[in-house]
Amino acid sequence: MRTFVILLACLLFISSCNQPPSDEKAAPSDSSTIPPIDGNAIKGHIEKLASDEMEGRAPGGKGEELATTYIADFYKSIGLKTQFQDVPLVGVTATVSPMKFAGKTGNKTLKYKDEFVAWSRREEDTVTIDADLVFCGYGVTAPEFQWNDFKDSVKGKIIVVLVNDPQLEDQSKFGGKAMTYYGRWTYKFEEAARQGAAGALIVHETEYAGYGWDVVRGSWTGEQFDIVRADKGASAVALQGWITKDVATGLFKSAGVDFDEMKKKALQPDFKPIPLDTRASVELKNKLRQTASKNVIGVLEGSEKPDEFVIFTAHWDHLGIGEAQDGDKIFNGARDNAAGTAMLMEIARTATKVEPKPKRSMVFMAVTAEEQGLLGSAYYADHPLFPLDKTLANMNMDSPNVYGRDNNEVQVIGYGYTTLEDILAEVLPKQGRKMIPHTEPEKGSYFRSDQFSLAKKGVPALYMKSTTHEDEMDYTAKRYHKASDEYDPSWDMKSAAADSAAFLEVAVRVANGDQWPEWKPGTECKAIREESLKK
Ligand SMILES: [Zn+2]
Repeated sequence: MRTFVILLACLLFISSCNQPPSDEKAAPSDSSTIPPIDGNAIKGHIEKLASDEMEGRAPGGKGEELATTYIADFYKSIGLKTQFQDVPLVGVTATVSPMKFAGKTGNKTLKYKDEFVAWSRREEDTVTIDADLVFCGYGVTAPEFQWNDFKDSVKGKIIVVLVNDPQLEDQSKFGGKAMTYYGRWTYKFEEAARQGAAGALIVHETEYAGYGWDVVRGSWTGEQFDIVRADKGASAVALQGWITKDVATGLFKSAGVDFDEMKKKALQPDFKPIPLDTRASVELKNKLRQTASKNVIGVLEGSEKPDEFVIFTAHWDHLGIGEAQDGDKIFNGARDNAAGTAMLMEIARTATKVEPKPKRSMVFMAVTAEEQGLLGSAYYADHPLFPLDKTLANMNMDSPNVYGRDNNEVQVIGYGYTTLEDILAEVLPKQGRKMIPHTEPEKGSYFRSDQFSLAKKGVPALYMKSTTHEDEMDYTAKRYHKASDEYDPSWDMKSAAADSAAFLEVAVRVANGDQWPEWKPGTECKAIREESLKK
């Protein structure tokens, strides 16, 4: 529990601590020669990894075999010490019955996928839920904000909660516009389990989720993975799911309350759970499949301190094969994250040519099952092959810039968290670019990719990319987590190559520097790190 409290405090701090960088901690400039990074080589890897042959790179299938072999063979070809880390996963394919609402004013049957999605982390053949629905606002317990949406017990009930964190008008809590971890769906299900609820249904609203219903539908149907857990998922809430806003509006109406009014109520600190006078029932028939997926790891040994590390991460996996969208059922994940993996590979190749050789070791890890909840990186963080207290920094690439447009700006996601960005701020002007904070802090992106798994354990972690607002909006609307996230031969990798070069230079400076990167003052992750370094 204590770990949880510290962790949660850490999450909140880092999400609200957007201080400008101080330059006092920056590493001294480095005299290493770093060769340029080849954008066309990055593009070549994307084309390969995002090809239909790779079947959308779902963990545990043919696509995994092809993709991980491709990455490992590449590592070997450039002389890295190459190994796989087995990540034991359980895949659950659920056959989901329609969900029935039985209320005072009538019954309603919801259509799976169109009106709701549901799954269970319980490793059981059949999961049957039949319980009362209760509206719990944002589903948040946050003592540090004097916030508690669970003033009445919800034990054995299915909670209905809003997506994101409470967006108070005065922005005085929950990081203002920036999303805190309280806004993440992972948090909502974790909190529902702590409250002893039977299930949790999140009301989808595109504006506050940051993605449309089709993303919900594509992400949470088909085979769902989890790390094999000792308790077989018994500590997780039995039913996890989403309902559309239309369904929620109807549900509230039949209970005699208005959805928008309830939303307003949920922003009041005196909010209490509101019974919806409706029972919900649904049955999930689960097909369980034990499988092992893989993290692919290549190591460039340091010349002086081979037992100290800088670790690069990018997830190689994507959503695999799903329901056809416009006649296409392969979710190729070209930008997300064949592109980040491709950058990882070319950063690795270029790192082998840095002169003189970096003093500390550099680890290049392509991780699995990010799309299933950062599972590969979480498994690594729990079972590190290289001690985390000897790991100076993590740098992560996810869905990088494939458009060649960047306004000469690089966005730091999780701006103000670590001293790594002080180094980045020195490196970028040499490229004629500058560092800026993430322009969409409301998305909570720092909690949505693999650096978060290492940050949770205290490793200073940098997630940055150059991107333009227009490209990002267009991608989110048209391609993110859709079959249309395909390789495009017209892509321009100029910005991705520059980002890769910046990442590599920051890494080389850290690998050669006397100063270990740190969390910035005021972050609780700083305490986690200091605790871990003491041991
Ligand atoms: Zn991704």
